[in-house]
Amino acid sequence: MPPLGGGGIIPAMPELPEVETIVRAYRPRLVGRRLTAYTSRWAKQASPSVAAVRRGVVGKRIVRLDRRAKYIVFTLAGPGELPQSWMLLHLRMSGRLEWAADPEKGRHRHIRAWFDLDDGNRLLLCDSRKFARISFTTDLNAATAHLGIEPLERAFTAARLEHLLHTRARQLKPLLLDQSVVAGLGNIYADEVLYAAGLHPLARSDELSPAQVRALWRAIRAVLRKAIRHNGTSIDWIYPDGGMEPYLKVYGRAGTPCPVCGTAIERLRVAQRSTHICPRCQPRPVRLPGGRSRHRGGGRL
Ligand SMILES: [Zn+2]
Repeated sequence: MPPLGGGGIIPAMPELPEVETIVRAYRPRLVGRRLTAYTSRWAKQASPSVAAVRRGVVGKRIVRLDRRAKYIVFTLAGPGELPQSWMLLHLRMSGRLEWAADPEKGRHRHIRAWFDLDDGNRLLLCDSRKFARISFTTDLNAATAHLGIEPLERAFTAARLEHLLHTRARQLKPLLLDQSVVAGLGNIYADEVLYAAGLHPLARSDELSPAQVRALWRAIRAVLRKAIRHNGTSIDWIYPDGGMEPYLKVYGRAGTPCPVCGTAIERLRVAQRSTHICPRCQPRPVRLPGGRSRHRGGGRL
């Protein structure tokens, strides 16, 4: 792939904006092509098995390429068939797609799998740490039943988010990272979203006011849309193509001044994850008598 943009390099894993960017970049090359072979060099990548994935995909045409949460979803159809099978690819911590126009010549490293296409090109899965996963299914609903709502879809309204928050009593950061609630956010964008909403990562989901819910809803959509516009954030060697890094306000910025108030950005540990906040713009919830907490701080978007 040609580079998609500039930007710095950050250790993390691809989240919604990066996967969306990958899907948009590969869609014109892949949709309409027929898969002629699947070769695996790492059996554990495939579910239910390498042989089952091969039986499922080889000979089929890619009729759509989409993103669901952090998955790349290939919709497949056999000759004369309606689309009724899917291949899901999750890059996880270290997977990266590469395009080999001339498979015999290449500087590709850590190749764990490849798909041959009917136009002579080859799609490579490069994966230094072997975390990426490929699965085949004939029931997409079942395969994605564990995933929560897509935050950029129309069904994700402020009222829907309020319901998701208020029917749970959880800290905001782990809740935002939970793919079964809202799908697609990871460590980078959860931090950016909470900062944009003026909310502390330890604030409780069931204690947010309607105005805070609305601020969070607006922040989720605005941050993700902006990140997609910039092709996501560059992530060490697995995703060097993003241009969002200069626009991150808190993630990876510990010690630098908050763009709004000038207070030094702090790094905390929340749910075993490195978490970045402005302690002034995202005040800690204040515990009140009776166990409820009150938040200062509102939204900013
Ligand atoms: Zn601040």
